Amino acid sequence: MLGSTYGGQDCSVARSLEIFGERWTLLVLRDALYGVRRFSDFADHLDIPRAVLSDRLRKLVANGVLTRSTHGGTGGSAVVYELTDAGRDLWPVVHALAHWGQRHASDVATPRIFTHATCGSRLNAHAHCPACDVTPAVADVVTSRPGKPRRSDRVSAELAKPHRMLEPV
Ligand SMILES: [Zn+2]
Repeated sequence: MLGSTYGGQDCSVARSLEIFGERWTLLVLRDALYGVRRFSDFADHLDIPRAVLSDRLRKLVANGVLTRSTHGGTGGSAVVYELTDAGRDLWPVVHALAHWGQRHASDVATPRIFTHATCGSRLNAHAHCPACDVTPAVADVVTSRPGKPRRSDRVSAELAKPHRMLEPV
């Protein structure tokens, strides 16, 4: 089996990839930035085997990127996963990947849109608002996906509409 560490690489890119270089991990983080917090919502939206999802979430918690906590609610208690500050710091990475994919690797007809919550302007390639000349924090970004969602799960439907990043889906 191929290892997941790059012990011979004296490089912070290699150290980062040891945490989120595995298949699905960045998509779990993307969804967490969108406000997905529950295991079943990650599972439905990503459509991945539950054992793989469990493994990825466990490692992200162990690496301090997500927290796992139990919230009491009217329907009983539920486990939720939320980004730590270190996890939120991945927002420019995920945004840059979205932009790069759109430019160089995408056949997506209606790509996801990211706008500044304050003024409604589209963010540029650097997640910067040209109208306000600021780079908004992820919590000040609104995302939407025009057109009919290709997937029929609840999270896809919610995230097609304008939705503030990090707010629970
Ligand atoms: Zn703005």
